[in-house]
Amino acid sequence: MSGTGGTGAMTGADTTMTQGDSEALATLHRVFGYDAFRGEQEAIIEHVVAGGDAVVLMPTGGGKSLCYQIPALVRPGTGVVVSPLIALMQDQVDALRALGVRAGFMNSTQDFDERRMVEAELLAGELDVLYLAPERLRLDTTLNLLSRAKISVFAVDEAHCVAQWGHDFRPDYLALSVLGERWPDVPRIALTATATRATHQEITQRLGMPKARHFEASFDRPNIQYRIVGKADPKKQLLSFLREEHAGDAGIVYCLSRNSVEKTAEFLSRNGIEAVPYHAGLDAGTRAAHQSRFLREEGLVVVATIAFGMGIDKPDVRFVAHLDLPKSVEGYYQETGRAGRDGLPSTAWMAYGLQDVVQQRKLIQGSEGDEAFRRRAAAHLDAMLALCETAQCRRSQLLAYFGQEQHTPACGNCDTCLTPPDTWDGTVAAQKLLSTVVRLQRERGQKFGAGQIIDILMGRRTAKVIQFDHDQLSVFGIGEDLSEPEWRGAVRQLLAQGLLAVEGEYGTLVLTETSGEVLRREREVPLRKEPKRQAAPRSSSGAKGERKAKAAVAELPPELVPAFEALRSWRAEQAREQGVPAYVIFHDATLREIATVWPTSVAGLGGIGGVGEKKLATYGEGVLEVLASLDGAPGETPAPSSGRAPASTADQAPDPDWPELSEEPEPEDWM
Ligand code: ADP
Ligand code: ZN
Repeated sequence: MSGTGGTGAMTGADTTMTQGDSEALATLHRVFGYDAFRGEQEAIIEHVVAGGDAVVLMPTGGGKSLCYQIPALVRPGTGVVVSPLIALMQDQVDALRALGVRAGFMNSTQDFDERRMVEAELLAGELDVLYLAPERLRLDTTLNLLSRAKISVFAVDEAHCVAQWGHDFRPDYLALSVLGERWPDVPRIALTATATRATHQEITQRLGMPKARHFEASFDRPNIQYRIVGKADPKKQLLSFLREEHAGDAGIVYCLSRNSVEKTAEFLSRNGIEAVPYHAGLDAGTRAAHQSRFLREEGLVVVATIAFGMGIDKPDVRFVAHLDLPKSVEGYYQETGRAGRDGLPSTAWMAYGLQDVVQQRKLIQGSEGDEAFRRRAAAHLDAMLALCETAQCRRSQLLAYFGQEQHTPACGNCDTCLTPPDTWDGTVAAQKLLSTVVRLQRERGQKFGAGQIIDILMGRRTAKVIQFDHDQLSVFGIGEDLSEPEWRGAVRQLLAQGLLAVEGEYGTLVLTETSGEVLRREREVPLRKEPKRQAAPRSSSGAKGERKAKAAVAELPPELVPAFEALRSWRAEQAREQGVPAYVIFHDATLREIATVWPTSVAGLGGIGGVGEKKLATYGEGVLEVLASLDGAPGETPAPSSGRAPASTADQAPDPDWPELSEEPEPEDWM
């Protein structure tokens, strides 16, 4: 299909377009069924089709795949896509084949015969796209094979894997510079969603692409609602979040340790939410099975360590929840970015508490890295804490972190925009807290964790307070005016602002170089008020609890829901028969549009986004039959879309479970 241009839809296309342009656009219509390119896609594709190299920085869900798939289809020869995600290659190839693209892959999961067949197709010029694992390209046999084929473009996906200080470094990626040396005339495109400038430069340099044009898309993901709530009883908070806002939705819950992954998955299952664990301690078979269920079933929750998610291109992940603090803003953004690739409303929700800060600081101090490593890790953590404690728009802060200040007005779709937090003058509270730390150390030569400090401030005669005679201290009871959550909030924020630090195995509190400024009254300490109730801004209308809260359905006028549901069950049947994920048949967004437009002819169906030539031929009749079997088209005037009344979860008991410090967090190699 390479090189064949226009379709009927394109006749009379703008004559000012160049040949490459119109072919790219025609391919977008014909193969992918989309109307128009998004953002930078057009410029990137045009550049690569014309033979140029490109380094592309685009957020997850931004539409990177088309940037190499269309050049692969338009230019003569086979597009070779280098991807580290072996476990997903089969699905990627299935998705392309469902569009009528001649796609194949070569990796270690294949047997000899399968590989031979792909090789034969490649040499016969019968492949539009070939996926390869990077380690294949170290082999002379692979390089020689590619030399005998006609290559249209090389795409290096997840290109940040070449960056040694990145969070997913893969040594095999270093060998990819050979591509430019051996095939100087074949354009190369490197793509990543990892945003820092340093990573970007490292990619360019290590892949040997000095002449590449750089494209940087906005990192904004407006359909994702960012929310960070105070951690009280995290599992329960998660459960209400899921029940109230994401019942029946697919999503990912991230935890730091394998143990908490297991426990959380069990807890959710016990409470009627289908959930499976995923972490590096499970055997490969179980991991693959859970991943495959997540991709294929609707509404499964995966509870995972960071080992899960890279390259998961399931478009209808409706939420990403964090029960532990991620180690960096980069990691957080990449993980949350897995929600809502289809552009429909999604939530990034995190529960964060004092214990997270203590735990992360301890991990850094106890790590085996050198001083430079620890400094870098601490800087990453500080940026993450600043995001958690900000009273400003979360999205603005995220985008500013990635150097995209130009895109940063207050967004209206994050918790701080929706329910702006109050701030208060915490200077005196900070002084009381810091004085308590000082007194313990100066007068008693002791260091304690936040729990004991707060008990002293609040004048509580606990066993431990009595044991150490802490009720004799002059600071005992000077903080009775604040509640325990308020004191915890103050400790957290002082830690985030660098005015307090934690130390050692027991997470004891100590002063920092800047603490003195507060004690000497040289510095004011604004603090964010602890919310009494946690708003759940996306909870939709209707009697609480009775609603089927699938976000994709929630946004539809009620009279369209039966059609949407009928299409979904038709899709589920197709997916089961073919053994592919449902989204390979059609995305939710496509089904929604079908339910809304209610086409009555094959031609009408062809005008829906996501319905290309091949899918129209394969499924057109089936979809029309589903629609015809329903009780006629809906009325002309759709009901006003449901308003959003905020729901709230009751104030949680102020009893955060202190981190299980014996737990091993999942190893991570990003720092
Ligand atoms: P990325 O790889 O950057 O995370 P994808 O390539 O998976 O993103 O694209 C994300 C989603 O957006 C996919 O569902 C894709 O089909 C859709 N998409 C991409 N480009 C367009 C477009 N021009 N018009 C409509 N949908 C698009
Ligand atoms: Zn905002």
